[in-house]
Amino acid sequence: MDNTEIADRLETFAMMLELVEANPYTARAYRRAAETIRGAAVPVADLVRKNRVRELRGIGSGIEARLRELVDTGQIAELSELERELSPDLVGLGRYLGLSARRSVQLARSLGVRTAEELREAAAAGRLRDVPGIGAKTEARLLEVLAREDGPRPREGLLLSRARELVGTVAAAVGGEPAGDVRRWRDSCEWLAVVSAAIVPEPVLDRFVALPQIVAVVERDERRAVGVTVEGVPIELTAADPARFGTELVRATGSPAYVAALEPLPLAPDEHTVYAALEIPWCPPELREEPFRGEPPPLVEVGEIRGDLHCHTTWSDGRASVEEMGRAARERGYDYMAICDHSPAVGAVRGLTPDDLRRQAVEIAAANEALAPFRVLRGIECDILPDGRLDLPDDVLAELDWVQASVHGGQRMPAPQMTRRVEEALRNPYVRCLSHPTGRYINRRPENALDLDRIFEVALEEGVALEVNGLPLRLDLSGGHVRNALRAGVEIACSTDAHSVVGLGNMVLAVATARRGWATAANVVNTRPLEEILGPRRARKAA
Ligand SMILES: [Zn+2]
Ligand SMILES: [Zn+2]
Repeated sequence: MDNTEIADRLETFAMMLELVEANPYTARAYRRAAETIRGAAVPVADLVRKNRVRELRGIGSGIEARLRELVDTGQIAELSELERELSPDLVGLGRYLGLSARRSVQLARSLGVRTAEELREAAAAGRLRDVPGIGAKTEARLLEVLAREDGPRPREGLLLSRARELVGTVAAAVGGEPAGDVRRWRDSCEWLAVVSAAIVPEPVLDRFVALPQIVAVVERDERRAVGVTVEGVPIELTAADPARFGTELVRATGSPAYVAALEPLPLAPDEHTVYAALEIPWCPPELREEPFRGEPPPLVEVGEIRGDLHCHTTWSDGRASVEEMGRAARERGYDYMAICDHSPAVGAVRGLTPDDLRRQAVEIAAANEALAPFRVLRGIECDILPDGRLDLPDDVLAELDWVQASVHGGQRMPAPQMTRRVEEALRNPYVRCLSHPTGRYINRRPENALDLDRIFEVALEEGVALEVNGLPLRLDLSGGHVRNALRAGVEIACSTDAHSVVGLGNMVLAVATARRGWATAANVVNTRPLEEILGPRRARKAA
């Protein structure tokens, strides 16, 4: 058994564990072990036989036992059992129908079906009502969903980062282009779509439905198929005649309202020709939410970003050193980066005391020597205490180049209190930027009760920037809020909040979110040269 085969089995096991909704940490551990084994330079089966496999990163005693079983017997008994019991396509269809994986498995057991197709047949034969716990109402709903033409919307979209990866993989496999919510960079994607150009559509559709990412097919006609992912999210493929590829791409990209306002669309092989025929300027996908026929502004681009102003290191909860982060930022072509580790009040992780900050300064100075002319800035992500004071004294903040202020604990305050708390922090003369202003986690935690219009006023008066945080779960401010902030005259900073070298890559998400808010380079502080970042706040005190 070679490393690839072993890794594939572990990955399948991880997927099965996820399907039965086992502890997510276990599934993740198996997935990580699979990755390690795939990249290992030596035959892992040999290491297992020599009792040395735990020398590999991320392999503990539990995974070692599974590996031993796999190498000795050629299989993992628990995995074989899971595979007998549930098929991924059944679970995918179940999720699409609004059933949990567990419920889908129960349903399959009591009906004696094992695949999505068999479930459909059982439903059509009227056998759903025999299942304990399924009443006439649920049966009617399931039948309706199975029969409906456009299918249900998932209760919850996929995070943009996951959706981008998924749609990108599918698009590459069928030689098409990502469209739908992903192309508009929505923070949570419900409508996944790919458009490919094909004179003869059948082979493209065949390739699509056979992809491992497509666990069930809910619709297929001559030039279009809708598959379902294992999360139960529908993904639509259009195999367009090349002469109308541009038309189909416009249609599969814009929101329904945006597209409807352009119809009837002329037939054209590419988007630019479609727009030219409509006699309106080409529109960046990020702006195709509301009907719009005008000249779009020159939206900010990743290439215009000159530095990242919110990054962590091993001094708090990051995984790389100051110099490693700086070097990686320099490799991205930036001129500067601000190290903003946590202050003590953050609680869950280690925060930096004034003493720590002064010791960190020595390390930052050394990194600056090694990386010059690139500049590593001394910064902090300073907690805003519940009463609006900052977690570190002013004389400490005064030494720093860049101060981010953040609400972490105590987010459930009523709006008037929360607004006063944040306002108070923005009045501190050393604060340069408000981190993740609303505190939301996409699909998991709502925005803090905060009067954003009031915060915009204060930020404008004080010359404080508002962050567009690029963590995939945050994207905070959202595109809609960015637009309101810009209308109020406030500046934004596109930052990654990176906790690792890889995390710096989330700048594309921060910039895309700013673009969804119609931001140009002039609105984004970190498109500016270092001298301006280090200069005084651009306060515009109310007259
Ligand atoms: Zn934070
Ligand atoms: Zn942070």
